[in-house]
Amino acid sequence: MKIGFIGLGNMGGPMAANLAKEGHDVLGFDMASVTIAGVSMAGSAAEAATGADVVITMLPNGQILRAVAAEVLPAMQAGAALVDCSTVDVDSARAVAEQATAADLLFVDAPVSGGIGGAAGGTLTFMAGGSAAAFAKAEPLFDIMGQKAVHCGEAGAGQAAKICNNMILGVTMIATCEAFALADKLGLDRQKMFDVVSTSSGYSWTMNAYCPAPGVGPQSPADNDYKPGFAAELMLKDLRLSQQAAESADADTPMGELAQALYSKFVESEDGLGMDFSAMLPRFEKRGRS
Ligand code: NAD
Repeated sequence: MKIGFIGLGNMGGPMAANLAKEGHDVLGFDMASVTIAGVSMAGSAAEAATGADVVITMLPNGQILRAVAAEVLPAMQAGAALVDCSTVDVDSARAVAEQATAADLLFVDAPVSGGIGGAAGGTLTFMAGGSAAAFAKAEPLFDIMGQKAVHCGEAGAGQAAKICNNMILGVTMIATCEAFALADKLGLDRQKMFDVVSTSSGYSWTMNAYCPAPGVGPQSPADNDYKPGFAAELMLKDLRLSQQAAESADADTPMGELAQALYSKFVESEDGLGMDFSAMLPRFEKRGRS
């Protein structure tokens, strides 16, 4: 397939490299000058999109997605598909889907889970929204870049799944960290805390697979001085998206709201910037109730 790939950062770079490694003809574009193994570089987003069967975008946010879409949709050939793998707001995904459909193009919103390791290893999970035809066109590429792709529904459904998942993730990480900090103050050994909770009803991905306590459970960013991993500021971005969606859908999400406020404080006025999102544990440790 001829693929245009726009946004070759931490995630997009290795994803594009994996497509090229499988023999696809990949023409990339990024605002920054980057070199990706096996990927030819275009001079603009429109050039990368011209003549492509599929255009993939992996960009920072919805505003940038809308701007890039305005440039690439007119350059795409009829029947081609725009596959946006960025994490963006549901409204932007739906707006770009509408523009694509009006231009006789297919659109899939397909945010990912799995982080930089998953992008490099080709083991991402894709959660996709769009028509059956659009999903079918993108699926062989999802199979190369990832290990699983779930077709969640119509346009926007992929972003909806992503932000709901990450709202659970943010809330659960905070709960796991505050419970560890409480256990510490009660004199409970951290390994014992892990041994009990990881096999009891308080278990979760954040406890069992990504334990925020160093030296406990499987290897995680806590064992590497809380270097990300999944940065606290990216968690904050996703919690803002879920709160924005909750507001526009009139959904009551008090825990999501609290998690957003806590990560916002952590990143913007404490020491969370540049730290993994599990660094909430040392944050709680340093503090008392006030
Ligand atoms: P990144 O900042 O490393 O990459 C984004 C790239 O987009 C940059 O290289 C930037 O130069 C480029 N870019 C920005 N504006 C552009 C434009 N107008 N035209 C062309 N290129 C442009 O970010 P990332 O970590 O690769 O994340 C990309 C997306 O994936 C985000 O939406 C993020 O939320 C999501 N995501 C990231 C992770 C992760 O662990 N990093 C995990 C899941 C999802």
